[in-house]
Amino acid sequence: MSRIYLSPPHMGDQERTLLLEAFDSNWIAPLGPHVDAFEREFAAKTGVANAAALSSGTGALHLALTILRVGAGDEVLVSTLTFAATANAVTYVGAQPVFIDSDRSSWNINPSLLAEELAACAKRGKLPKAVIAVDLYGQCADYDPIREACGRYEVPLIEDAAEALGGSYKGKPAGSLGSMGVFSFNGNKIITTSGGGMLVSDRKEWIDRARFLSTQARDPAPHYEHSHIGFNYRMSNLLAAVGRGQLRVLEERVAQRRSNNAFYREALDLPGLEFMPEASFGRSNGWLTCLTVDPARFGAGREDIRLHLEKLDIESRPVWKPMHLQPVFKECRVRGGEVANELFDRGLCLPSGSSLTAEQRARVAMEVRRVGA
Ligand SMILES: *Cc1c(COP(=O)(O)O)cnc(C)c1O
Repeated sequence: MSRIYLSPPHMGDQERTLLLEAFDSNWIAPLGPHVDAFEREFAAKTGVANAAALSSGTGALHLALTILRVGAGDEVLVSTLTFAATANAVTYVGAQPVFIDSDRSSWNINPSLLAEELAACAKRGKLPKAVIAVDLYGQCADYDPIREACGRYEVPLIEDAAEALGGSYKGKPAGSLGSMGVFSFNGNKIITTSGGGMLVSDRKEWIDRARFLSTQARDPAPHYEHSHIGFNYRMSNLLAAVGRGQLRVLEERVAQRRSNNAFYREALDLPGLEFMPEASFGRSNGWLTCLTVDPARFGAGREDIRLHLEKLDIESRPVWKPMHLQPVFKECRVRGGEVANELFDRGLCLPSGSSLTAEQRARVAMEVRRVGA
């Protein structure tokens, strides 16, 4: 039996055809017709006017902060329960992340704590230069109160939708809820280009700026002329071709992952196991199915399950370790933190790939049950 992965890439014929077409056209380098087409198709899919295809989601976050002129000594409020890339990008521009705890109803940034922190910052006379809300495991944060709080202090909102492509909030696509949206096409995401990212916004001048900065900030001149520091963050035409193929099957991928989620919920409806709630305000893309384990009620802990699965060559993973617990961010301020701490202590992500078979997920559920029995 072969290993069951957490979230492996899932490619099809369209991706292969488009990639070979790009290869044969000799448009290999960054720029090319597939990059332009991928941006257009992606913007249409996410309901945003403009998109810039980049080499990673991390690069997209870095550019978003750069375009908002976040710099040395500034603060940026960030969900504490996230992948490190969200907070790392803040440090790339010389700013400090300030972490905000999760809300139990969605595991995403708690809008009340966010509003409290913004009020405290205003009182201190130093507002953050941006807020980054993360759409965890495919589920959008609660954007109405988040936007209200950011709007009150005129602080721009970046939506880190790296995990949430295909999800939605009150009918609006994930990634379209902030001033700018960030996506990732890393190998484990719902669609992948092996590595890649996208920055989206309704403001054309910001996305034009992202294209300029991501291609080494060349001023218009026949020679190489530079009046700004640029980056090498553009997506290659080959990878954009793969991305276009993946985008065409996005709805199928969402349906497959949501079906895994529905299956696990039914098969593991046991005392002591609680699935990540799907908040009434949105629809998750089902990227990863996560649950928490109460050892007293289930009869075994999160690590017991994870290690048992690993022995059987089944990959599962603890929920993200909150940023405020990371040694590298231990000096940073945090508002709350207990909810994220508990989700980390007890949370487990189950194999959730769109290519997971019915037999495989049944086997995963059976083995999880066995640990508690
Ligand atoms: C994957 C991910 C990123 C980073 O994307 P890369 O394309 O791997 O650089 C950023 N934020 C979150 C929440 C992610 O899950």
